[in-house]
Amino acid sequence: MDLFNSHKNDIANIVVDEAAKNRIPDGLFLACPYCGSQMYNKQLGEYRVCANCGYGFRLQARERVALLADEFEEFDEDVSMHNPDFPGYADKLARAKKQTDMGESVLTGKALIKGQTVALGIMDSYFMMGSLGSKTGEKITRLFEYATANRLPLVMFTASGGARMQEGINSLMQMAKISGAVAAHQEAGLLYLVVLTDPTTGGVTASFAMQGDITLAEPHALVGFAGARVIESTIHEKLPKDFQRAETLLANGFVDEIVPRPDLAAVIAKIVQMHSGEA
Ligand SMILES: [Zn+2]
Repeated sequence: MDLFNSHKNDIANIVVDEAAKNRIPDGLFLACPYCGSQMYNKQLGEYRVCANCGYGFRLQARERVALLADEFEEFDEDVSMHNPDFPGYADKLARAKKQTDMGESVLTGKALIKGQTVALGIMDSYFMMGSLGSKTGEKITRLFEYATANRLPLVMFTASGGARMQEGINSLMQMAKISGAVAAHQEAGLLYLVVLTDPTTGGVTASFAMQGDITLAEPHALVGFAGARVIESTIHEKLPKDFQRAETLLANGFVDEIVPRPDLAAVIAKIVQMHSGEA
């Protein structure tokens, strides 16, 4: 346990990134990326969902944790690892850290969600498209190890463009590394709950996003491995509408339920409680 405690930050309360929250002026006119409906930014409300179709606009991880958790204690904001020397990588990382107030593309910690204690991971698509780098993999692995050691359910919000190409093979190895930690958590008889958010693609879909005991998704979230245009140019066929959307995954058995963003905290708490053995 000391191993994990040494990486813990003493954040008693949720820290909301005010700069991120206010990054879009209320008066700005936006179009829903899914249905095309136009609306003022302020009409999205605190959950930032389209009033017409329920699509959840992309959130930063710190915005999401503030909406979801009653208490949050962050782990491993940054982990000390050597980054590969890829041209321009250091600059990109520094920019992403500044823009998102995050040490890496995933936020991890222990959370209280409507009375249920869980280990919580939230990927941030604003941090280099939520790509899976070595530090992302290390943080997620440590989260699973913490959950296993403390017999906690683990809730993971996925959002990723896939592997981080600047890290090459090191990035791909994270898929196996995290999957090992997922397996140990599952062998201990603990619940792993995944929430697929827009977009979840590439190596994240090919590993821990699809390994949950229960898989939820936000409405119309894009979830897939390769991009639709790559598939179309490979098979020389036009793909159907909603290919790789949450609704198609639900119809084909990859997703257990689609849950509107405002209901997520209550649904997660209910599922965790049902698996806790409490009445
Ligand atoms: Zn919409």
